[in-house]
Amino acid sequence: SKTIVEGTTKVSVPVPPPDTTFPPSAAPVFYNPEMELNRDINVAATAAFVERLLSRKELLREEVRYVDAFSASGIRGLRIAGEVGIHATMNDWSPEAFELIKENIKINGLEEQTQATRKNANVLLHEQKFHIVDIDPFGTPAPFLDAASASVRSMLSVTATDTAPLCGAHLKAGIRKYAAVPLNTEYHSEMGLRILLGACARELAKHEKGMLPLLSHVTRHYVRTYLEILPGTKQTDRTLKLIGFSIHCPKCGFRGPVYGLAVHIEKECPVCGALTQIAGPLWLGPFREQAFCDEVISELEVHPLNTKDKAKKLITLCRGELDIPMFYDQHVICKELGASATGIEILIEVLKAQGFEASRTHFSGTSFRTDAPITEIKEIIRALSG
Ligand code: SAM
Repeated sequence: SKTIVEGTTKVSVPVPPPDTTFPPSAAPVFYNPEMELNRDINVAATAAFVERLLSRKELLREEVRYVDAFSASGIRGLRIAGEVGIHATMNDWSPEAFELIKENIKINGLEEQTQATRKNANVLLHEQKFHIVDIDPFGTPAPFLDAASASVRSMLSVTATDTAPLCGAHLKAGIRKYAAVPLNTEYHSEMGLRILLGACARELAKHEKGMLPLLSHVTRHYVRTYLEILPGTKQTDRTLKLIGFSIHCPKCGFRGPVYGLAVHIEKECPVCGALTQIAGPLWLGPFREQAFCDEVISELEVHPLNTKDKAKKLITLCRGELDIPMFYDQHVICKELGASATGIEILIEVLKAQGFEASRTHFSGTSFRTDAPITEIKEIIRALSG
């Protein structure tokens, strides 16, 4: 094994045998250095959320309970205990992981503030309630969302690494896991996030809990989201109003939301009349709260984090995104038109100058959001191309 440092936490992790460095799951206990950014943001986001909890004066810091339900080496929970300063439970059903978690608790001197458990995550989450539930399983979180929703009181943090099913690249797997139909379009990364958020909202609703997405971010390899829990039937019904479907026209690129679960959806594209495609049910509401992004950025400043600059850039982009579902990709439109692409900032400035709203997205460097109709977008791109 070797010792690695993330933030101010030291963790002993196994070194996989030389020929099995990939996938990381081949090691006796899992540790993926590629997820440091995800864990750094987790420290800042959890710290920001705990500050919110404490400011409501319903809880003392020492009363807040966080669970890292799929802990492996213990790194997530240890970082929360040591760097945020709240109690953390680290759970993993693997005997090797359980032993390693206990060793890592000792290395960090966090015996007082932590607990190690060795259970099926679903059992633990049905047995105990936690203010903050963090689920970071292999692949899909779908089989654990019910138990996580039952357990959680204040914030549910979810990682999904099954981006292919979520994004529509593995369609049947996506339908099985999320009871929703994704569409594999140029905005498949946003599709994946919204399919996951829709599934979370429906699982939470069974337990009469609504949700407010505080922060979400997507890379090629994973989707990560932080959901504030809004208890009660009223909040739950309000949350479900933000579920619906997304229409996509494969011919002209038109896209648009339809709110509701049992809804009438026109088969023909309102712009070009071609047959449309439908994705959903999925989340159509905002996937981050601007004020929370600001609080996370402030926390990034006070914690010593290796990925600070990258995290700040990502969350700043997230913060600035318009709340209009399904981004456009400038390159895809340019290709269709035979036009050349300008810098994304120029395109956004021109859209704004024409009276539309427009923003970049954190999903990709060539993507943008706007309330401009597709016909106007194409005209502007054509004109910019000269
Ligand atoms: N959170 C860790 C990190 O940031 O390094 C990585 C967790 S790893 C992706 C998933 C872990 O979940 C593995 O260690 C595996 O043993 C454990 N696991 C898988 N299914 C489980 C279950 N049903 N209950 C408890 N642990 C489980």
